[in-house]
Amino acid sequence: MKGIELEQLIEDIESFIIDNKERFTVMSAASDEKSLIKLKNYMRDKGEMYFKTSKSDGLKFLKDIKVNKCVKCRLSISRKQIVFGEGSPESKLMFIGEAPGAEEDNTGRPFVGRAGQLLTKIIESINLKREDVYIANIIKCRPPENRNPMEDEITLCAPFLKEQISIIKPEIICTLGKFSTEFIIGTDKGAISSVRGKEFNYEGITVIPTYHPSYLLRNPGAKRETWEDMKKIRGLYFKN
Ligand code: SF4
Repeated sequence: MKGIELEQLIEDIESFIIDNKERFTVMSAASDEKSLIKLKNYMRDKGEMYFKTSKSDGLKFLKDIKVNKCVKCRLSISRKQIVFGEGSPESKLMFIGEAPGAEEDNTGRPFVGRAGQLLTKIIESINLKREDVYIANIIKCRPPENRNPMEDEITLCAPFLKEQISIIKPEIICTLGKFSTEFIIGTDKGAISSVRGKEFNYEGITVIPTYHPSYLLRNPGAKRETWEDMKKIRGLYFKN
């Protein structure tokens, strides 16, 4: 194990112990690498038990232990804070966008700027509240000047989103815009304008892509198509 990985491992363990001291009996102090790895495995197993007992604890574990201190890509240098995601961990419906913008970087919350306010209205248009759904992005740190996420940034950050999906287990995912749509359904299905409103499958979950709210702010004429997509989502959400 390289020195830097070992340092990260020690840091993860320290955070875990501090955050969970009342919940877990931690093994005796580990001073060598072998014991640290044993302790890390113990943490992982406990974490997985956590996931099985509560989605909310699973998300907290993921956020606090894995995401909050992440420095895997260049965006960690310019970000003010991580934007992990928010909403109901028990939700049947998850919205997935691209990356945080300036407001999100300032507040640590997803979709709170102008586009976010529009997303809230879109959610309310199908008789749901924002707190009823879960909202996240593929990328957890703001790209400078709101540029598009780069391929390597998506590759490094997307495993966090995959974990969020596997903890929440939504029945429906609505991807917002090109980047999250391509990540979830693949790059070979066509442009967002041709896939929006259609049903796809991601690991047994129904996926319906639609336009990103930022696009709708620039192209208000596309709101009608988004409304059609949302009616389809509403039908699936309330079908039982
Ligand atoms: S964008 Fe994702 S991978 Fe990059 S530093 Fe932030 S959390 Fe880590």
